[in-house]
Amino acid sequence: MPGFSTRAVHAGQEPDRASGAVVVPIYQTSTFAQDAVGKHRGYEYSRTGNPTRAALEQCIASLEGGAHGLAFASGMAAEAAIMQLLKPNDHTVAVDDLYGGTYRLFRQVLEPMGLSFSFVDGSDLEAVERALTERTRMVWVESPTNPLLKLVDIEAVSKLAHAKGALMVVDNTFMSPYFQRPLSLGADIVVHSATKYLGGHSDVIGGTLVVNRDDLLERLAFLQNAVGGIPGPLDAWLVLRGLKTLAIRMREHDRNARLVAEFLAEHPKVARVFYPGLPSNPQRELARRQMSGFGGMISFEVKGGLEPARRTVERTQLFTLAESLGGVESLIELPAAMTHSSIPAETRRAHGVADGLVRLSVGIEDVADLISDLDRALAEA
Ligand SMILES: *Cc1c(COP(=O)(O)O)cnc(C)c1O
Repeated sequence: MPGFSTRAVHAGQEPDRASGAVVVPIYQTSTFAQDAVGKHRGYEYSRTGNPTRAALEQCIASLEGGAHGLAFASGMAAEAAIMQLLKPNDHTVAVDDLYGGTYRLFRQVLEPMGLSFSFVDGSDLEAVERALTERTRMVWVESPTNPLLKLVDIEAVSKLAHAKGALMVVDNTFMSPYFQRPLSLGADIVVHSATKYLGGHSDVIGGTLVVNRDDLLERLAFLQNAVGGIPGPLDAWLVLRGLKTLAIRMREHDRNARLVAEFLAEHPKVARVFYPGLPSNPQRELARRQMSGFGGMISFEVKGGLEPARRTVERTQLFTLAESLGGVESLIELPAAMTHSSIPAETRRAHGVADGLVRLSVGIEDVADLISDLDRALAEA
């Protein structure tokens, strides 16, 4: 099989058969001519299937090492499709340090519809095992988690899930398939917010999922069409263009983040740094086993709590104060007041997300400039 970078540029992207266009065209059309009643060339209506979207779906499937990919209008639309595999009374075990929007979907949309959830520390295998019940149909994991960057042993949790007959879902947004391929560790479904590293340029909202099992593809493709949370052709094209440079971007994010994490770990105004690549990280061994890099996300606690943390995030100039992550530009935010504000304060604190926690998405700028920006903001805070 060709290597990762080759597949990123070519998988699903043969020159266009009709015109020879080297780049997959944006098939901005809602419907497709039929040669005779019921006789078409693979496409009928763009909710059901569209050639630009199909190219993206093949490419992401190839990069995740899976058989089938599906693309959605957002990461949340992809997640909602996965959850529609379940019925009322079905139980899901999820990590407690979860993307805020996922937590909101589970608690505020799906729980009132009769689904039930347990939230556990995913890095504690015994806690995961204790949470599994006869009704558990799904285990939902992020690794690293958000915003504390705790690792979950995907292979071990997959085994626990499968022993109960539950599906193992991994949100692989933070690592991207360049650094971590959960299907190879036993996951059944890999989901992404393509808005982040896959798109990579902060110019599109999108989601994808990848599976190996044909029966899962069949049901999920049915849901994609029946519910309709699809991306338009232009958005699919933007994510596809982003994928071409995923490997080189991820290498730069990772290289910069290691240096930024080392700088923060030594800084007198920083109480703690959360980054799986630091030599002091207790989960470094697991990181080496299931990831081939550490990625561009770092969280750290500013000494003194909320106010100095707020001043830090308001004073950086290169690091833009914004939610989201995974783009070429560096971003900074305060989870308690921004990305994780939909989680009740008590729950948030109980899970270790301090009010003074700052989250960085380290971009691909010159790392010396990033470090001096943080140094100055911390000095002023
Ligand atoms: C952003 C994000 C999502 C949601 O994706 P959208 O594209 O914003 O809908 C889900 N999971 C993680 C880890 C994310 O960072």
